Amino acid sequence: MAILILPVGRIEPEIIDDLRGDLEREFGFKAAAGKAVKEPVFAYDAQRGQYNSTAILYSIADRPDIFDYERVVGVAGVDLFASGLNFVFGEAGSKAAVISLFRLNESFYGRAEDRAILRRRVLTEAAHELGHTFGLGHCTDPGCVMFFSNTIHDTDMKGPYFRGECLRRLLDFGVIIDQLGGFK
Ligand SMILES: [Zn+2]
Ligand SMILES: [Zn+2]
Repeated sequence: MAILILPVGRIEPEIIDDLRGDLEREFGFKAAAGKAVKEPVFAYDAQRGQYNSTAILYSIADRPDIFDYERVVGVAGVDLFASGLNFVFGEAGSKAAVISLFRLNESFYGRAEDRAILRRRVLTEAAHELGHTFGLGHCTDPGCVMFFSNTIHDTDMKGPYFRGECLRRLLDFGVIIDQLGGFK
């Protein structure tokens, strides 16, 4: 499974590189970092002061440079919303997904930045949206990455690993070869 990680706007290279390495190590994907795409000004909603995640998702899915990959994950720095929701941590289509770092930073919650926490959250949200692109829906197990995150607390509680039926399906389909930290 070859995955392209696409910075959407100016994103710290270290965050992209950590995610690339984590996706390879934890799930056996072949992940590459793409060239950053422009800030998604077209997706900005001035009334909300947020960016439309669906518009960004479509713009990523249309890019010719993703055709060599089976999946693409956009990593945005701006705050995202989708129709009917106050905000979203990310959104997925059939091949493309996008996640936002905006609400993954501890500073958003008035706490000191923590790189390790941020790194785990980025992997968790990326794995969740990739799970959707593999056909998984939301899961009722609060310890499975496919659980729906209403808050950052949900994200921290579930962590980046697929469990139970979600894990079995991905292993059966050969989507993931292994989940090194996640067999529980
Ligand atoms: Zn979801
Ligand atoms: Zn599950």
